[in-house]
Order: sequence, then C-alpha cells, then structure tokens
Amino acid sequence: MVGSKQCYICGEPFERADDIVECEHCHVRFHRACLAEREEDHCPRCVDEGWISVVEF
Ligand SMILES: [Zn+2]
Ligand SMILES: [Zn+2]
Repeated sequence: MVGSKQCYICGEPFERADDIVECEHCHVRFHRACLAEREEDHCPRCVDEGWISVVEF
C-alpha cells in the first residue's frame, strides 16, 4: 500500500487545507503545487501511464 497521507513528491504530510491530487492509476497522492513544479500533468510514479484526478478532502 502506497502511503497516502503524505506527498509522494516532497514527502510532507498532507494538511486539511492542502490542494491535493491523486493518481487514478496507482493512487499515490501529491500536492497540486508539487506536481506543477515538475511541469508535468501525469503521475511521477507511473510516468507514461498515470492519470491524475483531483481528490476532495
Ligand atoms: Zn508535496
Ligand atoms: Zn500513478
């Protein structure tokens, strides 16, 4: 089970107010800002086959 309570990219634990996205494929989660820094719109774990969906908390 991939840890889902912290950001896969930066490793920081999520807080309630954070803007979080989740990969529909492998279900890892990361801050939207962390994903934006990578200038990618797909999962860094799945690389070519990841899809990102917004997770509402
Ligand atoms: Zn992060
Ligand atoms: Zn993924």
